[in-house]
Amino acid sequence: MFTKILIANRGEIACRIIRTCRQFGIRTVAVYSDADAKAQHVKQADEAIHVGGSIPSESYLCGDKIIEAAKKTGAQAIHPGYGFLSENADFAEAVEAAGIRFIGPKANSMRKMGSKAGAKDLMSTHGVPVVPGYTGENQEPAYLFQEADRIQYPLMIKAAHGGGGKGMRIVRSSGEFLANLESCQREAKNAFGRDRVLLEKYIEQPRHIEIQVFADSHGNTIHLNERECSAQRRYQKVIEESPSPFLTGERRKQMGDAAVQAAKAIDYVNAGTVEFIVGADGDFYFMEINTRLQVEHPVTEMVTGLDLVEWQLRVASGEKLPLVQSEIQTKGHAIEVRLYAEDPEKNFLPGSGRLEKLHLPAPSKNVRIDAGVVEGDTVSIFYDPMIAKLIVWDEDRPRALAQLQNALSYADIKGPKSNIEFLEKLVRHPVVVSGNITTNYLDQHLSEVLPQADAPAAHFVIAATVAALLADEKQTRQAAMRSSDPHSPWAIADGWRIGHESQRKLCFRWRDQNLDVYAKGSHGNYEITHGESTINIGNAGIHDVTLSFQRDAMAQRFLAHADTRMITVHDGQSRAGFERIPAFFFDDSKASGSGDRINAPMPGRMVVVKSKIGDEVTEGQELAVMEAMKMELSLKSPRTGKIASINVNAGDFVEADALLIKLEAAQ
Ligand code: ADP
Ligand code: ADP
Ligand code: MG
Repeated sequence: MFTKILIANRGEIACRIIRTCRQFGIRTVAVYSDADAKAQHVKQADEAIHVGGSIPSESYLCGDKIIEAAKKTGAQAIHPGYGFLSENADFAEAVEAAGIRFIGPKANSMRKMGSKAGAKDLMSTHGVPVVPGYTGENQEPAYLFQEADRIQYPLMIKAAHGGGGKGMRIVRSSGEFLANLESCQREAKNAFGRDRVLLEKYIEQPRHIEIQVFADSHGNTIHLNERECSAQRRYQKVIEESPSPFLTGERRKQMGDAAVQAAKAIDYVNAGTVEFIVGADGDFYFMEINTRLQVEHPVTEMVTGLDLVEWQLRVASGEKLPLVQSEIQTKGHAIEVRLYAEDPEKNFLPGSGRLEKLHLPAPSKNVRIDAGVVEGDTVSIFYDPMIAKLIVWDEDRPRALAQLQNALSYADIKGPKSNIEFLEKLVRHPVVVSGNITTNYLDQHLSEVLPQADAPAAHFVIAATVAALLADEKQTRQAAMRSSDPHSPWAIADGWRIGHESQRKLCFRWRDQNLDVYAKGSHGNYEITHGESTINIGNAGIHDVTLSFQRDAMAQRFLAHADTRMITVHDGQSRAGFERIPAFFFDDSKASGSGDRINAPMPGRMVVVKSKIGDEVTEGQELAVMEAMKMELSLKSPRTGKIASINVNAGDFVEADALLIKLEAAQ
């Protein structure tokens, strides 16, 4: 076994590889770019080498700099993770030429998968089923047209050297063929430099089922069963699970055997994935081999109880596979979803920025979190915006789904927009619950899983208001505890409070809307007015992330992540996120008082009192400044008049609605 390896990657996969290495006493060397100087993988590795600028082509894609770093640190092997250089045959070759082990297959195996046409031909000569079609060299449009007629419609035109979902066209009838051919060739030329295409039958209602394979350098090749990844958006996987709800035992065995055949056909070594497309009739066809560890590998680890990275290290160091085919056993059901910084409502636009809040469910035997960031870290614009993978396991699929729903409801991300709400809807959608999703479903029915409401449900507004009121009170209490004045009424537990008779206003932002809510009361007992209705709340409290209260004598419970600025409430089915806006800025005059009184618009600390008893003041004149929710609020006079009394001094902590300044009654 190795004693030191270099990880040529970043984010969650680098952290995940480090975890296994640590278990086996293998020292790790991280590489990092400018943007990643403070990243988790850099902190967790034993050593870290800076390799260049933030753009991947200046760092994580610089094979020579990475090999240099490995030599300098004495690393015996390089793990490429996924993405970046992981499927780059030239890099794999250069690593080995430098006397360092590449933790993955041989360059030649990768090269055999370089062209879709070549790969299909090779596989079919080895008895692996491929989608019927045409993969020949003759690219004359008239000839291709004739081949299309033979294959029959609908069919697909694919760029022979394509990938990443690009350069593909579905053609439904012969009349559409030539125009589609031309545009596919043009796209292929632009994207891949070569315009060769292949034709194949279009598989209706397709499912994506892939087989994890593993091979050592002693001629042993086995498979670790399947993962189904049919829930896709634009050919990107959204949910991955094992076992596939679609496969029978017999079909699983056929596909496993075919995958092992496919791996042997290219002299495969180490971990790989053979992707198949499966028709509604259960017929399956080879699509491609991913010559690396995949994002969704934890699903296989959860059902087999194996550590795939450990196996990768053992195989790369020359050991035999730890198990033979008949010893591979699976138990229960595992499902993975990927939490992304992206905005499903803006066409899944990738997000970036500081993770103000990152609350993930606690890991357990049922819940695994693979993350490369922690709260306070930044999601960079330079890389994949994945925040974490959430993987759940249980005895069977219904229970695993329940685990997933539950785990997602505990997750909360603030800062960049995330896909949590989208995932929550998706994992409750009948097509996912029944295990019948096909690869094109989401693209055709996206609106069914996008958040749609044009206003937040009323029970969420009430819950958020209660959470906000409690958070405000807690913050004021804590601030008073820290304050220098031990005699401050706020430092005395319970009891002292002033004037909660009149109501105060809270303002929230929900998506792009502003909402006003009015509240009276304190310490868990409130009267909340939202729109037309007024609701009495009693015994409200937050313990950890559980918000509970009585509403009109009925007990209600929510999951809540709340502070004085941001609030997420979850009712067990769905969630709503709110942002606080200082009420004072929202509606100047009213919030600070009216008539004769200037009240505190929210709990906070007085920064300065700018007037004294007897002063003549004019409407809108600033009388005092207070600090609340980390902002300064200007308290202005509601009218022209004379100051009758002042109840606060600079430095005092005041509760919401406290009477601060009084004007003499108008003549
Ligand atoms: P596929 O969808 O083809 O099966 P995976 O689901 O395994 O592939 O995802 C691999 C893809 O993730 C890469 O092709 C790349 O686009 C992206 N990627 C590359 N590097 C990283 C990284 N460090 N973190 C997250 N995603 C990455
Ligand atoms: P890429 O290399 O760009 O990932 P693939 O050939 O692997 O392209 O195909 C990507 C996706 O396109 C598949 O996961 C599947 O959903 C769909 N697809 C590919 N070929 C067919 C086909 N013959 N019939 C129906 N859908 C297909
Ligand atoms: Mg593919």
